[in-house]
Amino acid sequence: FAINMDQLQLGEELGNGAYGTVKRVIHRPTKATMAMKEIRLELDDTKLNAIIMELDILHRAVHDSIVEFYGAFFIESCVYYCMEYMDAGSLDKLYGAGVPEPVLGRIVSFMVKGLKFLKDEMQIIHRDVKPTNVLLNKKGDVKLCDFGVSGQLEKSLAKTNIGCQSYMAPERIKGESQNALSTYTVSSDVWSVGLATLEIALGKYPYPPETYLNVFAQLSAIVHGDPPELPDTYSEHARDWVNRCLVKRPEGRASYAELMNHPFLQEDARRNVDIGEWVTYALQWREEQKQQRRSRQQEEQLHPS
Ligand code: ADP
Repeated sequence: FAINMDQLQLGEELGNGAYGTVKRVIHRPTKATMAMKEIRLELDDTKLNAIIMELDILHRAVHDSIVEFYGAFFIESCVYYCMEYMDAGSLDKLYGAGVPEPVLGRIVSFMVKGLKFLKDEMQIIHRDVKPTNVLLNKKGDVKLCDFGVSGQLEKSLAKTNIGCQSYMAPERIKGESQNALSTYTVSSDVWSVGLATLEIALGKYPYPPETYLNVFAQLSAIVHGDPPELPDTYSEHARDWVNRCLVKRPEGRASYAELMNHPFLQEDARRNVDIGEWVTYALQWREEQKQQRRSRQQEEQLHPS
């Protein structure tokens, strides 16, 4: 069945991405709660139709580690993309609560399974692996979203907001000026997995803060500097796993099969890990952070220094 705007009851805003906003919606015919992403593009109807057709293959991307796709439509120059609603939101807003190694292991294991499925079963390279594109729910599911299926959509995105934190592999940064798409292989995603894993563990983007403000310094650190590493408070296996992702030469990086068979994820497979419990804890932590921010603001308004 095809979804259209008339069937949707709009709810609150869930977030604001680089290319548009995400809202919670209810699909009236099925009463299902969904997340609807609005992507603003300046294109004619034929191009928009091509995008909707390209997105259609997402109906086949059904996997435990992939956010389910329900359908897309366009109105004027906006593409609306309806997907599974994940009630704990994205990982970047949760990892600050602290991520113990078993939780880290389980999250990255979900991520790698999802990426391996996309590659093996769908011939899709994600191209945008980062903590914002990992969504969670209170049941404890961990799923990937925002992968590159539509070449037309990718080309049409207004790259106004490149973002101040790059997850691009060195070869992609170097190749960017030539032909970004041809230099992109599945191992570029493996680099991004390594960087995302570090960020989830450390609670912050792994390259030094000086580089957040200077894109060139950051890209130069990625291309010319040593790759960042997990500190020795983590197990040998976890540290080695991240090192296998963050190899600067793409040919030297681990494959998904190797990452799954590595002792770090083999240990994870044998362990009982309750991600739902961790999500509940992290959501509570986030709520407390919000409260504290609010009372600090009130304090400042009452007693301006
Ligand atoms: P970006 O462009 O930075 O990748 P998105 O536009 O994809 O960000 O999403 C912005 C925010 O909206 C996310 O950080 C997340 O909190 C929220 N969000 C996106 N998709 C969903 C979803 N399916 N369920 C719940 N929240 C979502």
